[in-house]
Amino acid sequence: MTGPGPTLSVVIPVFNEESALPLLARRLRAVLDDLAEPYEVLAVDDGSTDGTGGRLAGLRAGWPQLRVLRLRRNSGHQAALLAGVFRARGAYVVSIDADLQDPPEVIPEMLRRARVDGLDVVHGVRADRSRDTAFKRWTAAGYYRLMRRLVGKQVPAQAGDFRLLSRAVVNELRELPERNPVLRLVVPWLGFPSGEVSYQRAERVAGRTKYPLSRMLGLAAESVTSFSAAPLRLATWLGLAGVAICGTLVVVAVLAWAAGATVTGWPSLYVAVLFLGAVQLLCLGLLGEYVARIYTAVQARPPYLVATDTAEPADPTGPGR
Ligand code: UDP
Ligand code: MG
Repeated sequence: MTGPGPTLSVVIPVFNEESALPLLARRLRAVLDDLAEPYEVLAVDDGSTDGTGGRLAGLRAGWPQLRVLRLRRNSGHQAALLAGVFRARGAYVVSIDADLQDPPEVIPEMLRRARVDGLDVVHGVRADRSRDTAFKRWTAAGYYRLMRRLVGKQVPAQAGDFRLLSRAVVNELRELPERNPVLRLVVPWLGFPSGEVSYQRAERVAGRTKYPLSRMLGLAAESVTSFSAAPLRLATWLGLAGVAICGTLVVVAVLAWAAGATVTGWPSLYVAVLFLGAVQLLCLGLLGEYVARIYTAVQARPPYLVATDTAEPADPTGPGR
């Protein structure tokens, strides 16, 4: 990575998108060539198992600005994004999905806003998600509401990972000791001057989503535990509430005993045992979430492993981050 970089880097996490790639390349290239500024397109092949690798190699033959970063194994959308953003060389770095749900035609507007208004971050905000399923819309709305409470109002609602970052933001991200930051939260948290550009979220052009419910839940759990210790306190409150309720039950039992109404009493016993058991399990689960986070932080394993980067000659000692 020597010499001055291009003006713009476009980072695309790609996982098994062989059918979307030709369309993406055509539309993206038209937009970027029109800009008439030096750019690079950094496709991060997230361990694809279909023909994606071959397609990318084919595209590269006729598109010198295309750079391909291949990860050794599938590491997930977030990790692939990080890999691309960290390795991008541009003065501005735009991240975009490979499936054309984010229109590349918005990129010049993002760049213009960044320059004219002196912004370091320009979020792509989905003006209309009517093309997404009701379930996805509903869960996304809940997620953003929670994140705005945890991180602050600077987290734009309905902003995914279609955004522009300035070099200053990227450098600061790289300096963070956190190895696996959730970009869509950490970027607003950094507090750089930021703006929004709204766009219509389109349907996937080809292939199918790689974000099943389990991954969405994983991202949500990571988002919460990376920004808030409130659930741990919730455990304390639940424990206190449990103790209070049990205390009341004890008083009730004593009164019933004094009144001579000492029935067999198994319902109260049963309720108390179940309730306490539930509270304890819940608290253990919450602790487990944080312990897991501490565990991964202590291991400090890189979130992704780079196999090859077409911008760098093969390095026998193995490329790092
Ligand atoms: N992606 C990736 N690694 C994965 C899953 C997805 O790099 O393990 C890429 C995928 O190719 C796409 C982007 O991340 O470019 C967003 O994924 P997808 O469109 O499946 O998510 P959705 O739009 O359905 O939330
Ligand atoms: Mg998509």
